[in-house]
Amino acid sequence: MTPNNRQNRPGAGWRFDNSYVRLPEAFYARLNPVPVRQPRLVVFNAALAQFLGLDPEALNGDEGAAVFSGNRIPEGAEPLAQAYAGHQFGHFTMLGDGRAILLGEQLTPKGERFDIQYKGSGRTPFSRQGDGRAALGPMLREYIISEALHGLGIPTTRSLAVVTTGEPVFRETALPGAILTRTAASHIRVGTFEYAAARGNPDEVRTLADYTIHRHFPDLAENANPYLALLGAVMEQQASLVARWLMVGFIHGVMNTDNMALCGETIDYGPCAFMDAYDPDTVFSSIDHHGRYAYGRQPQVAQWNLARFAETLLPLIAEDPQEAASMAQDALSGFSDTFRYSWLAGMRAKLGLFNQEADDGVLVQDLLDNMHRHGADFTNTFRDLASGSLPGASVFRAPDFTRWFERWQARLHRQPDSREASRRLMNTHNPAVIPRNHRVEEALAAAAERADYTVMEKLLGVLSSPYQDPPEHAGYHLPAPPSAQPYQTYCGT
Ligand code: AMP
Ligand code: MG
Repeated sequence: MTPNNRQNRPGAGWRFDNSYVRLPEAFYARLNPVPVRQPRLVVFNAALAQFLGLDPEALNGDEGAAVFSGNRIPEGAEPLAQAYAGHQFGHFTMLGDGRAILLGEQLTPKGERFDIQYKGSGRTPFSRQGDGRAALGPMLREYIISEALHGLGIPTTRSLAVVTTGEPVFRETALPGAILTRTAASHIRVGTFEYAAARGNPDEVRTLADYTIHRHFPDLAENANPYLALLGAVMEQQASLVARWLMVGFIHGVMNTDNMALCGETIDYGPCAFMDAYDPDTVFSSIDHHGRYAYGRQPQVAQWNLARFAETLLPLIAEDPQEAASMAQDALSGFSDTFRYSWLAGMRAKLGLFNQEADDGVLVQDLLDNMHRHGADFTNTFRDLASGSLPGASVFRAPDFTRWFERWQARLHRQPDSREASRRLMNTHNPAVIPRNHRVEEALAAAAERADYTVMEKLLGVLSSPYQDPPEHAGYHLPAPPSAQPYQTYCGT
């Protein structure tokens, strides 16, 4: 293996300003990515590069292959693996970046700060039994789904590039190895706080909390109790994030506390997938045997994770442990209402409602119950409703649904806004396309089996404007044809 080169090619636009590495050393281990044999840039997000202040021309090719494989470290980068812990399926574990390297923090032309992280870049002190590598399929999957969430307007980490390494990784079979470069407002997780708290040093938790406030919630610094305020702010963001997932049928799949980012972005795309037919018990992940992370359980799980976060903050919130616990509990008790408010606001928009009526929650729930009973497609039902008349799908012909439809029509008539305004509202809140599971699989298979990236590029193009519906998107609306096997996703480790 050749050692990493460290140099800056003129004009690539790197502008690092690394703050995480200034935290106490307990929070990370400095190390370079492990170089790879034969890097090839196979997917590159030129628009994101531009947004970050990078020059797409300079990076789209050999330079990109060298940089996004970790073989060449841009000047100003200070690579490190982050330490963290986490509750995985309810059980506490020490974790850390076992196959990721934080290259540094890029300042955009607007002065915003984004982590640049490699995923699949080799072993670290936190790798435990793992090989530190990633297979191509799961990295492309993260690329597609994270960019789809971005297209849908949902806060998320983003994907800048995928490089194949020219080295196999061994899972059940030998698979092509790959590295994903992702960007995030930060990678501070609930698990980062759990790690600091588990070390038993409240000063480290305070340092991390101050850092998080400074980086993501600077307005809270002046608050009389900034740590309680931090808990409240993170709670509100997560309530809104999960509500937005539910609006589009997204199932994260592995909402462990190490996969909940305090910047409020969706993070760590493993076994995630979108639901077709509405069923709140939908689970895709092969390892989620008890439905802990099912579609409809996501709000409760977020609240559970926030309680783990709150526990780490208790010594900072008040000196008296009981007083601290009751203050934290008070803050977290707002979750249900905050979530419900976000959810109902989103659902009203999905139904073309501008104003509020007391029974709106019942109207929404009755629709969902109808969809559940009739196995109706979540995405297409909402999109079809915008057309204003009853479309052909079988759910729309069922008498219970027809009665619901009349109630909804009456509700629309009770608001002053025009039908056209309602239709526009619906079409900007109900996506026409989501990353349908069979479409994602088709794109991954073409890439991983035939090195054909055109299928994925086409899918990414469609997913970048999911609320539009030009004729060429038509084939992307349909759920997969029924199959004998339910769809399953894997963690992709
Ligand atoms: P994830 O399921 O991606 O959230 O990962 C959970 C933990 O397992 C994290 O600490 C990862 O860094 C670690 N991990 C996952 N895959 C590997 C791998 N191939 N090698 C080393 N560590 C890994
Ligand atoms: Mg993770």
